[in-house]
Amino acid sequence: MHNLRLYITKTVLLIFFALGGTFVFEADATPLTDKQVNKRLKKCMGIKPVNNTYFQPIVYTDCFDTSIESTYNHCTTIVPIEDEIKFTAFSELPEEYDIWNSSINPYNISLVDMKDTIMIDISGYYPPSQKYVTSNFGFRKWRHHNGIDLKVHRGDTVKCAFDGVVRVTRYDRRGYGYFTIVRHSNGLETIYGHMSRFLAHVGDTLKAGDAVGMGGNTGRSTGYHLHFELRYLGNPINPNDIIDFERHTAKNRVFVMTAGNFEYKKEIDKIRYWTVRSGDTLGRISQRTGVSISKLCSLNGITRKTILRIGRRIRYT
Ligand SMILES: [Zn+2]
Repeated sequence: MHNLRLYITKTVLLIFFALGGTFVFEADATPLTDKQVNKRLKKCMGIKPVNNTYFQPIVYTDCFDTSIESTYNHCTTIVPIEDEIKFTAFSELPEEYDIWNSSINPYNISLVDMKDTIMIDISGYYPPSQKYVTSNFGFRKWRHHNGIDLKVHRGDTVKCAFDGVVRVTRYDRRGYGYFTIVRHSNGLETIYGHMSRFLAHVGDTLKAGDAVGMGGNTGRSTGYHLHFELRYLGNPINPNDIIDFERHTAKNRVFVMTAGNFEYKKEIDKIRYWTVRSGDTLGRISQRTGVSISKLCSLNGITRKTILRIGRRIRYT
């Protein structure tokens, strides 16, 4: 059933883009032929190529000099300042996106030491939930929170953040619950977790604002909320780098992504875990790791009386 759906989506998209067929992939490049466009689209599952939009230069024409002397001179020294944004084009979709399967991160690429600057079109953003942030991206006591939690109520529709195609719909009992991953035409991927129901299926083409699912409380979740992640080639990005969650808008038209956006991973790498084995107590883990029991408790949000389940990971740095 899914295969048939995928095939239909692909075919429809290919015909659509073949008829349009005037996309340009690189700045100053001649437009690709229909055949080349089709080949590229086929590789990336019918995703619309990145638009080659240029930004208008910002031109300041105001006279800022309001001193008496210049007023006397009728402000004759107006010099328009042209602050031209050095912007050529949005980055092309990376080759690694030829991989299309149901893994959360099938790319296995670290961007911590990335040399490139990647330009991503975020102008088409639509808020997945218009409610408030309940928990932010970043370090929790014993683990890193790779996304941002947004309030949803039972029955709220979770909306797609950008145009794209659904790549994954799965259930993860201990983590994301019912979750969906959408690959977007701008190169980002988004994850929507803890939903109660899917409203879009693998291979579906979605516009920004289209329904992804229903807000829920599934998986590792206490209370109704949406866990929302933004990723590039499987690497989570702090959603606050891109989106203003108070105004529910993108912070800019273009997101300039560099290695700096993945700096937080260096901190994650410093975290060490002890996996609880049969007979382990906090005292024993403390002895083995050289970390005090009270430090272990505070790092893991537990007390001296917490029962340590075998296999549980206890953070000790
Ligand atoms: Zn979350």
